[in-house]
Amino acid sequence: MTPLESIIHTEISAKGAMRIDRYMELCLSHPEHGYYMTRDPLGVDGDFTTAPEISQMFGELVGLWLAQKWLDLGSPAAFNLVELGPGRGTLMADILRVGATVPGFLDAAQILMIESSPVLRQTQKTSLAGHNCSWIGSIAELPAKPSLFVANEFFDALPIRQFQNLGDVWLERVVKLDGGKLAFGHVKTNQAGFPLGLPDGAIVEISEVRRGFAKAIAGKIKSDDGAALIFDYGDVSGSGDTLQAVAVHACTDVLSKPGDADLTAHVNFGELAGAVADCAAHATTQGQFLAAMGIADRASRLKEGKSAKDAEIIDAALRRLTDPSEMGTLFKAMSVTRADAPKPPGF
Ligand code: SAH
Repeated sequence: MTPLESIIHTEISAKGAMRIDRYMELCLSHPEHGYYMTRDPLGVDGDFTTAPEISQMFGELVGLWLAQKWLDLGSPAAFNLVELGPGRGTLMADILRVGATVPGFLDAAQILMIESSPVLRQTQKTSLAGHNCSWIGSIAELPAKPSLFVANEFFDALPIRQFQNLGDVWLERVVKLDGGKLAFGHVKTNQAGFPLGLPDGAIVEISEVRRGFAKAIAGKIKSDDGAALIFDYGDVSGSGDTLQAVAVHACTDVLSKPGDADLTAHVNFGELAGAVADCAAHATTQGQFLAAMGIADRASRLKEGKSAKDAEIIDAALRRLTDPSEMGTLFKAMSVTRADAPKPPGF
């Protein structure tokens, strides 16, 4: 039994069946045994690989997008450049390298990271050495300035709740103890507003934590101006059980290794758009976004003067990021801007 598993057993014995969002919160963020608190899970030696870790092209195009938004905002002399869940700091490092080519952009940027993991905060400090970054606990702490936000694979790591239609009654899915082992079960719920016409057994996921982050981003953009660029896997609407556990690049059972496997769920971009309804939200696939931002040209430039082997590595990264059979279609990009702002590049 993992140390976290016995903590979960104790909490269920004391308080009864545990909601999925509480289970995810403990598995990912328990201060001592939470998955992100104890390790750097990224890269070939870790449990999963993300777009910025696949190729510098991703962060460079994101950097161009952010710099363009800064120009569109009228090149404010001071703004917050905010990343949520910055992982190893690779994306921000690529953004800043590109940002240095846009006169005034870096001087105006106050770089602020929202990161709950002490291990990853340390890695970010190393990756971003030489840059003036600070780490804050929440969006509410941001200074009163325009803010440009970026988040890649952050929202999928935030806790969700699950509800299931069983015999025309919606019940909440929970984690309970069954013969001394963790098992899924159901409890009654007061939750209302489920989509009509879903078949018996259908599962619907919601995330109050994701909505909270999205609302806070939109509130900041509305009050002080700015924009956000969010990438994740998921769809614009959705139902079904998407909760998954991954360890060492392979799917594993959600309940079998609490704290030792990454737990994520697909992001429902419709839910996020609903939470930022005071602002304008645009969504497209990651493949289309990167194509519109010029990733093919960037790959050609990077291949100039390279060996056939290195050129093949760049082509493979391009395929992985954009091909519909790889990350191109499953992953989505979403922008959030003020309601009266023009449609941003890439959408
Ligand atoms: N954006 C990075 C890492 C993605 S993994 C990349 O693309 O490579 C998810 C990241 O979100 C990690 O850095 C994790 O520690 C962080 N994270 C997860 N939940 C968080 C929370 N509630 N608050 C702040 N950071 C969180």
